[in-house]
Amino acid sequence: MIAVNDEQLALMRAHGERDYPYECCGLMLGRFESGLKQVLEAYPISNAREEEAKRNRFLIRPEELMRGEKYARERGLDVVGFYHSHPDDVAVPSQYDLEHAWPTYSYIVISVENGHAVDLRSWEMQSDRAKFNDEQIVSAARP
Ligand SMILES: [Zn+2]
Repeated sequence: MIAVNDEQLALMRAHGERDYPYECCGLMLGRFESGLKQVLEAYPISNAREEEAKRNRFLIRPEELMRGEKYARERGLDVVGFYHSHPDDVAVPSQYDLEHAWPTYSYIVISVENGHAVDLRSWEMQSDRAKFNDEQIVSAARP
């Protein structure tokens, strides 16, 4: 289960709409709390792929990830997951996403159709890495 406040969800949706028709991506910073991930901040980062390959792929450069992790650490937070958009596609992780994901983290996928964020779902990879499972998003009170 992942707890995200409405403001951070709105930020992720807005990022997906801003980067349309390309994929956006970013980190979700917060805390792991006994079976629940608490997202306190969405941290937008750029998509590392070449222009023509930006659709339906996302990849975060190691230095971007390190910068995000340092930013989180300075605030006493952890990277609890990643978010990215699927332009004109459903909010379901692709095979590529599965092959490039890690267990434990949450993966939020935003479906952006014609520039409008129409769906947002969270996913968690099974510990055997075989597939993603739907993860419930609960709304969290602001810290
Ligand atoms: Zn994807």
